[in-house]
Amino acid sequence: MQRDLLAYLRDFGWRDVEIAALARDADAHAAATVAATEPPGGDPIAAENLVEMAQRLSDCRRCRLCQGRTQVVFGVGNPKARVLFVGEGPGADEDRLGEPFVGRAGQLLNIMLPSIGLRREDVYIANIVKCRPPGNRDPQPDEAAACMPFLKRQIELIDPTVIVLLGRIAARFLLGTTAPISSYRGRWTSWHGRDVLPTFHPAYLLRNPAAKRESWADLKQLRARLNESG
Ligand code: URA
Repeated sequence: MQRDLLAYLRDFGWRDVEIAALARDADAHAAATVAATEPPGGDPIAAENLVEMAQRLSDCRRCRLCQGRTQVVFGVGNPKARVLFVGEGPGADEDRLGEPFVGRAGQLLNIMLPSIGLRREDVYIANIVKCRPPGNRDPQPDEAAACMPFLKRQIELIDPTVIVLLGRIAARFLLGTTAPISSYRGRWTSWHGRDVLPTFHPAYLLRNPAAKRESWADLKQLRARLNESG
């Protein structure tokens, strides 16, 4: 667009020096526009802790999901957790209450954690996208991409020993796999040097109770890994 405009001005006989000044003004305007769309607190990625980061993200408008959400669902739990659980995105209950995994799937997760000696407050729980996709549809790749830098920064700040990916969407966007989850759940992998364990999403377990047996095997692997690492 800008290049078209410059070509247009040149056709009218504008000299390069005038065009260069115009281009500088356009750059300054673009920089000011970016600054104006940043929330007042500054860049969430530059935040030094999760509380500050959550505040800076609370008015995020970087993707279309902001249009239908009630609030940004940042994440919850121990800021120094050894285990980070990553789901897909907030549902209706999470959007209303501002906390991940508080609906039926969350209630199942709350029951699963103590089975391996963990409490909800020991772990950290986050999602691939922090705003509810309309009608609970899957997050789209551009929405996941817009939110990924914030999940990465959360991982950096929490510094967990293990990341547990809940379901195929979390695995798709963190690991880049589109294979059926049954082919890789329960198999350890790594992401940027961290141990990662993909497993079934609790919502899938609610729909397919027979899969709880495999899910239990995955949880035992998680427990063993945490025992090994002290
Ligand atoms: N499902 C998810 O993936 N995340 C939530 O926060 C709730 C349900």
